[in-house]
Amino acid sequence: MTDLRKLSIEQLTEALVSFGEKSFRASQVYDWIWAKNARSFEEMSNLSLELRKKLTSHFDINPAEIHQVQISKDGTIKNAVRLHDGFMVESVMIPTSERSTACVSSQVGCSLDCEFCATAKLKRMRNLEVAEIVDQVVLIHRQSLEFTGRPLSNIVFMGMGEPLMNFPNVVEAIRKISDPKALAMSPRRITVSTSGIPKMIMKLADEKLRVNLALSLHSAIEHKRNDIMPFSKAFSLEEIKNSLIYWHRETGSIITLEYCVWGGINDGKEDIEALLDFCQDVMVKVNIIQYNPIGEGKFARRNIDAEAQYIRALEKNNIPVTVRRSRGADIDAACGQLANKNL
Ligand code: SAH
Repeated sequence: MTDLRKLSIEQLTEALVSFGEKSFRASQVYDWIWAKNARSFEEMSNLSLELRKKLTSHFDINPAEIHQVQISKDGTIKNAVRLHDGFMVESVMIPTSERSTACVSSQVGCSLDCEFCATAKLKRMRNLEVAEIVDQVVLIHRQSLEFTGRPLSNIVFMGMGEPLMNFPNVVEAIRKISDPKALAMSPRRITVSTSGIPKMIMKLADEKLRVNLALSLHSAIEHKRNDIMPFSKAFSLEEIKNSLIYWHRETGSIITLEYCVWGGINDGKEDIEALLDFCQDVMVKVNIIQYNPIGEGKFARRNIDAEAQYIRALEKNNIPVTVRRSRGADIDAACGQLANKNL
């Protein structure tokens, strides 16, 4: 049976007309599944019993469901979310005093091989469907209301997976999240984080979604970045930078560069110089991410002194810089720690 939420509004209209219904019924059904987040046909109370029966015999709805919840001592909540075929992804709710952020996954596992990330140790099993991405947002929105009394305010595609390698579904999910007739959240509060695939960054800019872009840079020295993130050998830093210039030109929005500082890896003067150089002709701000250890190995050590040196150098050169504090590390919910560990 087809999942009702895989249909476009046009396909939905076509299906309803083929049942002998008036076409306006399609917008009622759309409203139930994408705005009211109905997860069963019984809930659709303004549809006739007969239509609900027809829908039931042709379609199903496969919601993603929370399988396990872990709560950090800092208030961060990690959800293991079960998909209809039994696969699991993790999504995180990160509350602060003024906002609630949902960190959502875009793939089961990840196709990439970043050495410092626990998700990379899992094979990519499949891409998430549009509804599975939207469901994570809806679940966390409800969780935010329950735990903080506030609605969800921000969404970051920084969970499991590389969003730009599930491009059509991520784009469609963003459209659903920001559609005034669906979840109606502002795209300005959505950030897509990518490990950097130049062609796809430009394609995302062309979609005119009005979302924010973050690039996981971690080193502006090409051979070092290639060691840290081996898949990136496929692209030069020059190509990546050009795609960021394109992004800024097309969208007008400033790009965030995500950057961890590791002892013995990217904590030298030449690393800072290379970053300053990279920031030269592109509109960026730098987000220094506190590294969350995922085991022993060469990335074991975050260099706090070097982080301070980076911050000073960036500030001196008028490049905006912020520090992302680690959240939820005690329950393996922090950046780079999502690995279905306790399941
Ligand atoms: N694939 C996307 C989104 C997922 S990762 C991307 O690469 O951007 C989200 C962020 O967490 C990225 O900036 C990533 O580099 C960072 N990250 C991964 N492992 C980490 C770790 N162990 N500690 C801190 N940040 C990490």
